[in-house]
Amino acid sequence: MSRSAHPAGPRHADVLPEGHYSAPPADLNALDPKVWAQTVERDTDGVVTVGGRPVTELAEEYGTPAYVLDEADFRARARAWRTAFGADADVFYAGKAFLSRAVVRWLEEEGLNLDVCSGGELATALSAGMPAERIAFHGNNKSAEEIERAVRAGVGRIVLDSFQEIVRVAHIAESLGRRQRAQIRITVGVEAHTHEFIATAHEDQKFGIPLAGGQAAEAVRRALRLDGLELVGIHSHIGSQIFDMSGFEVAAHRVVGLLKEIRDEHGIELPEIDLGGGLGIAYTSDDDPREPHEIAKALSEIVTRECESARLRTPRISVEPGRAIVGPTAFTLYEVGTVKPLDGLRTYVSVDGGMSDNIRTALYDAEYSVALVSRTSDAGPMLARVVGKHCESGDIVVKDAFLPADLAPGDLIAVPATGAYCRSMASNYNHVLRPPVVAVRDGQARVIVRRETEEDLLRLDVG
Ligand SMILES: *Cc1c(COP(=O)(O)O)cnc(C)c1O
Repeated sequence: MSRSAHPAGPRHADVLPEGHYSAPPADLNALDPKVWAQTVERDTDGVVTVGGRPVTELAEEYGTPAYVLDEADFRARARAWRTAFGADADVFYAGKAFLSRAVVRWLEEEGLNLDVCSGGELATALSAGMPAERIAFHGNNKSAEEIERAVRAGVGRIVLDSFQEIVRVAHIAESLGRRQRAQIRITVGVEAHTHEFIATAHEDQKFGIPLAGGQAAEAVRRALRLDGLELVGIHSHIGSQIFDMSGFEVAAHRVVGLLKEIRDEHGIELPEIDLGGGLGIAYTSDDDPREPHEIAKALSEIVTRECESARLRTPRISVEPGRAIVGPTAFTLYEVGTVKPLDGLRTYVSVDGGMSDNIRTALYDAEYSVALVSRTSDAGPMLARVVGKHCESGDIVVKDAFLPADLAPGDLIAVPATGAYCRSMASNYNHVLRPPVVAVRDGQARVIVRRETEEDLLRLDVG
């Protein structure tokens, strides 16, 4: 990062719109079904409803900002993944995208399994009744205490991330008189994000054990020697927000290559491979994600083909979508506080939340869309930037968006596709209270995660 002075502005004077949003949409009142949850529509008064409930009522009852989650949409997406992969594969929902006890129950009912990566996520899963054998425990630095809890609970698998962890988990399991089912996470030299992937010779990241240099093969050798472990498979997760299947193709090729090496060296065929998550969703109308059945078909064809050419039995496949299930199911409902036109530049629209409820724009330069939802408008488009209330100029929720030019304080606007990595990454920056998650279904709304209170904040501050 440059230390020299630069023109003021959150993006180094990036004040002009990028090509992306160069033309306003034809109809500012339209709600693109690609980015909104499936029950979202406008009623005859122009108010947006979800699950049959107008957002104006939800705002009145639960306040703003609020994450509003379409339960029917969540269940439909979970079911679509489950159905697409069928009985010969497992779908593990990645809990880190968004986890609450209600969500765990929906997943349990819809036949999905669950990934957790901390003691807190494990506690949430178990307390909501997810059977332990349907839980996988991930992470690159699980504590001994977390491992012990997971083994005692009887989790279906622990994903081993390092040589030290192989020994640690084996030792803990053995001391508890258990044999823990485990997979080894490897890095296959593929990194995929959105439309691109890169295949590199070495891996410069904290997760997994590199396939390169025979390290993964050595990890397998060690795991197979330890009585506390039952090694059932190999795990690979290549990135996030991926639309292009070619990264998975290279990853599957390399994972199957390792399975073949294992067969040749040890005379065993590991029964499982996990290809991770990272499947993309539409944040704006420009994104074109694939349907779960297309992804399932592509992945299973890739793995079957690779296994046939390696003359291996096709292992049981698992996948770990997080964002692709919960991302599109929720939107964040905000009230507009101020509207500040900057001549010749754009209009800054301040909402009652910001980077504390959605850090993704600041953290990853993520793109979002936004709509006026408490009414329709016939006004022309104005180029806007939706910003929060935090003491930070990088506190941007939607970088470039067109909103109706008559937008005014008191209007409700909503940012769709905020179900994943928003509440789960929410912070208390500026001692702002984290918003509630309100689930709506069939005309009924209920709070599944309540709004934080000042009392909650002060409870942790013991003076
Ligand atoms: C984050 C993560 C996922 C889920 O990623 P999404 O982009 O939400 O699908 C799956 N598996 C592992 C190991 C992860 O770290």
